[in-house]
Amino acid sequence: MYFPSWLSQLYRGLSRPIRRTTQPIWGSLSRSLVLSSQRRNPEFSSFVVRTNTCGELRSSHLGQEVTLCGWIQYRRQNTFLVLRDFHGLVQVIIPQDESAASVRKILCEAPMESVVQVSGTVISRPAGQENPKMPTGEIEIKVKTAELLNACKKLPFEIKDFMKKTEALRLQYRYLDLRSFQMQYNLRLRSQMVMKMREYLCNLHGFVDIETPTLFKRTPGGAKEFLVPSREPGKFYSLPQSPQQFKQLLMVGGLDRYFQVARCYRDEGSRPDRQPEFTQIDIEMSFVDQTGIQSLIEGLLQYSWPNDKNPVVVPFPSMTFAEALATYGTDKPDTRFGMKIIDISDVFRNTEIGFLQDALSKPHGTVKAICIPEGAEILPVFLNTNRNWNSPVANFIMELKRQELIRLMETQEEDVVLLTAGEHNKACSLLGKLRLECADLLETRGVVLRDPTLFSFLWVVDFPLFLPKEENPRELESAHHPFTAPHPSDIHLLYTEPKKVRSQHYDLVLNGNEIGGGSIRIHNAELQQYILATLLKEDVKLLSHMLQALDYGAPPHGGIALGLDRLICVVTGSPSIRDVIAFPKSFRGHDLMSNTPDSIPPEELKPYHIQVSWPTDSKAAKAH
Ligand code: ASP
Repeated sequence: MYFPSWLSQLYRGLSRPIRRTTQPIWGSLSRSLVLSSQRRNPEFSSFVVRTNTCGELRSSHLGQEVTLCGWIQYRRQNTFLVLRDFHGLVQVIIPQDESAASVRKILCEAPMESVVQVSGTVISRPAGQENPKMPTGEIEIKVKTAELLNACKKLPFEIKDFMKKTEALRLQYRYLDLRSFQMQYNLRLRSQMVMKMREYLCNLHGFVDIETPTLFKRTPGGAKEFLVPSREPGKFYSLPQSPQQFKQLLMVGGLDRYFQVARCYRDEGSRPDRQPEFTQIDIEMSFVDQTGIQSLIEGLLQYSWPNDKNPVVVPFPSMTFAEALATYGTDKPDTRFGMKIIDISDVFRNTEIGFLQDALSKPHGTVKAICIPEGAEILPVFLNTNRNWNSPVANFIMELKRQELIRLMETQEEDVVLLTAGEHNKACSLLGKLRLECADLLETRGVVLRDPTLFSFLWVVDFPLFLPKEENPRELESAHHPFTAPHPSDIHLLYTEPKKVRSQHYDLVLNGNEIGGGSIRIHNAELQQYILATLLKEDVKLLSHMLQALDYGAPPHGGIALGLDRLICVVTGSPSIRDVIAFPKSFRGHDLMSNTPDSIPPEELKPYHIQVSWPTDSKAAKAH
């Protein structure tokens, strides 16, 4: 059996990089055909009326009688028709003789994108008319019978990848958008990677795939949850942000290697890398430490990785949270390029420049800088290394200091130095944002900073266990979730200086995207109770079942969750996670196709003892 290369590679656990191109991708991606002799390719035409897919016919099929089903992609001069399915394109000859008038009528009159079934013989194209750009370009189909399975009305947009359309229109007609090569490719690659992950976890490492409830109860702290009303007055379910509690309870239950392709919900607005419902590869193991989980994930990604992408190199490098913040100004550094943050406080210790002096005199006050190579290209120069420093502060920096700065920052002509003064964390995170903005700007000017074919994984470790609450910095909240175990060497600090306690949490970062996170958990009820009640001041009643479970011989355990949508988004080079989800929500959390969320008549709300209190401002009222 033959496959276009992208498909055959997918089904061998491989895939091809997608180039953003205006070429007809179906053809260009299908040229080099590599078949695996070891792996059985799936049977795409079992149980259905077609004998073959549109993309698989070659010269070796000459003379065969075939039945194909597909969508009409082109028609030329009422003579040729090109049929398309997920597999590729095939040319069909519209019969011209009188005896085939009814077949001719069907094929000539059916609008583009109508779905048809044709039967006929595979013949070779006349000499000179072969199309080397088309994998099926040596053959065509001499049609004997045709059936219009369903006609297509006038389309809201053409089903061609190179036709530009707004995302809103794509989402409104998602079922049409899914016919595009790009969406077909993304969703099929996603399915293949998940299949390989299942294989690795279940077949090679004895994990058990277990479903957990999505109707659950409110979890203290963390992200906002969606509520689901119940028929008991004033009682609600919550949709879980993750199966965190259940996976830990499974460990107590002796299911010591759990995984799930889990749907999770967070009531937050969509962003390019977020949407209200998303999928995690959720994992938990008993009797494991941080290194064990990290090795498992490295192996999992290596095993499921598409082979023709740059390979996954293991073990992944690791960096502490403190180092990530100090060097890249973020907990998810994109390590594909430099432009690291440098502390230049010492250069300005005795400065007379007011704002620097001011910053340095405060607790944790620092002066930091990044050097943007060739930054003069993109920025009005603030400080550069040429003789005439173009900066409002330049006049105040003595020659000696200038030399010291140039040496520290390793600046060259035409580089730009961005400098900030302030509290360490704030200064770093500001420069971290500027670093990424500048990288984007430089790349729009053609400087290649981040190799798009490179996959740069990084573990970020040693996060703080607690953070000051935003609304009340005197109180603490969990940096991740309250079940995260403290770092063994910091446990004593829990009772004296909890803010200084590091956790056993780890994040997995890929090309500057957080694609996973997890931790070793607290398995001691007393410690869990102390953290929840005394340090976090949470209502422990909400978690009494967890505390109770820990008291019944809970094994030491830990886990991780990989954000599947984000992972596939990076692998496929898609601009947003919505491009790797079949039916995503819009930026504002709506399903534009079905108009969800929708209103409910008051009588249907009655059984839930709910009444809508309509907002009074006119804009909101109009919306209903
Ligand atoms: N449940 C966590 C999350 O969703 C991951 C974990 O700790 O395993 O981020």
